[in-house]
Amino acid sequence: MSEDRKQNTVYGKYEAVIGLEVHAQMQTDTKLFCGCSTKFGSGPNSQTCPVCIGMPGVLPVLNRKAVEFAIKTGLAMHCSIAPYSRFARKNYFYPDLPKGYQISQYELPLCVGGHIEILVEGTVRKIGITRIHMEDDAGKNIHEAKGNYSFVDLNRAGVPLMEIVSEPDIRSPKEAAEYMRKVRSIVRYLGVCDGNMEQGSLRCDANVSIRPVGQETLGVKAELKNMNSFRFVERALEYEIKRQIKVIEDGGKVVQETRLWDSAAGVTQSMRSKEEAHDYRYFPEPDLVPMATAPELIAEIKAGLPELPDDKRKRFVSQFGLPEYDAELLTSEKALAAWYESAVSEGGQPKAVSNWIMGEVMRLLNESNKTIEECPIRPGQLAAMLRLIDNGTISGKIAKTVFEEMFMSGKDAETVVKEKGLVQISDEGAIEKAVDEVLAKSASEVERFRAGDDKLLGFFVGQVMKATKGKANPQLLNELLRKKLG
Ligand code: ADP
Ligand code: ZN
Ligand code: MG
Repeated sequence: MSEDRKQNTVYGKYEAVIGLEVHAQMQTDTKLFCGCSTKFGSGPNSQTCPVCIGMPGVLPVLNRKAVEFAIKTGLAMHCSIAPYSRFARKNYFYPDLPKGYQISQYELPLCVGGHIEILVEGTVRKIGITRIHMEDDAGKNIHEAKGNYSFVDLNRAGVPLMEIVSEPDIRSPKEAAEYMRKVRSIVRYLGVCDGNMEQGSLRCDANVSIRPVGQETLGVKAELKNMNSFRFVERALEYEIKRQIKVIEDGGKVVQETRLWDSAAGVTQSMRSKEEAHDYRYFPEPDLVPMATAPELIAEIKAGLPELPDDKRKRFVSQFGLPEYDAELLTSEKALAAWYESAVSEGGQPKAVSNWIMGEVMRLLNESNKTIEECPIRPGQLAAMLRLIDNGTISGKIAKTVFEEMFMSGKDAETVVKEKGLVQISDEGAIEKAVDEVLAKSASEVERFRAGDDKLLGFFVGQVMKATKGKANPQLLNELLRKKLG
């Protein structure tokens, strides 16, 4: 597909080809085929019933909300919604799967043929979405470190998942991480998945192969599992690409297999040779009728979609004149984008607001482990502080101190400036006095500066700033220093 593809030469004469399979746990109250709760963290096996523990003779009943969530996601990712789809049994044995098969979708998935956009190094790239289908999750095996036994917790068994399968359009580990971020951003905008990778509500299997640059046919791929953060997705792929290149360069062949990422060792390790579709003996699920999707339902869901990250990014670029990079970052979370727009509507200059959010707001939120919803500073308060910079009341440098204090106390900029006496000194006489005092004390530096050591200008600025507690108007100070030293 995409002709916008730039050749990636990071790997010398090889190119990496990556396709991701993302499992997103849908935020429904109940499981996919029974009424059990999906709440995370309850006591083992407390949220189970005969259906989700796979008792014989029980019948599954499809959760309507889950279907709506999957359609929502499909539409948001520009997929076609199949008018007719059905579930299939994927048969395999594992202790966390008591019914002996997963109910998934195989030859007739709900959503097909879409795309999402990612921004990497200033370039927007389209990544194709092959399909999105629904399936139920398995339970969880808990292996006891001491004894030679394991537990099975079936609370997760039957929880609804969407599997979002990408085309092999991704060309670098960085793009893979960006793709993952965008998927997370979209499902969170839609409210269909909380996107929590640590708790496993968003999981990713990464398929990767290499091929000589210019070759069309795909190389043999490995499938990587067990990466529960964006950073691990990136690192596992980086490792695996290098490993495959080495195998080829050493005259060997990449074998199709499933490999496990070991984050402690920073390597991928062979887990098993890759199973083929026919190993699963897929067949249509006989206990569920095929699903016809009413066009009215699709239209209704479409009409209710929020503005999505890619559209919001484009609007931020055109409406506020922001660089793509800023717009991508600000629109990654709905609440963050709303905070930004609110600060601008309160009079903040669009690029200045963006800079402050990407800089100080993010830093302070990170340091205090808060989300943007919990930010103690309201958007209007940032706009008001920016006005104090614009009208010369405070310098841009002092503003950082002011902002930090606003964050700690929730007070307005004006109050902080007054209480802490941080008003910028723009009185030429006062700055001149401070300059004279510094120059008088620094005879040898003055001499060196006049002899051509230009770098000392910074020293003088620093000294005067120290004497004025950082409050001297920087522009005036620079002019005065140049005049006196010139
Ligand atoms: P499988 O049958 O092994 O599950 P699929 O064709 O269903 O493989 O593809 C699974 C994922 O792997 C998709 O995201 C797809 O884009 C990706 N993929 C397929 N072939 C390759 C390849 N040769 N190299 C890298 N990724 C690939
Ligand atoms: Zn149940
Ligand atoms: Mg497959």
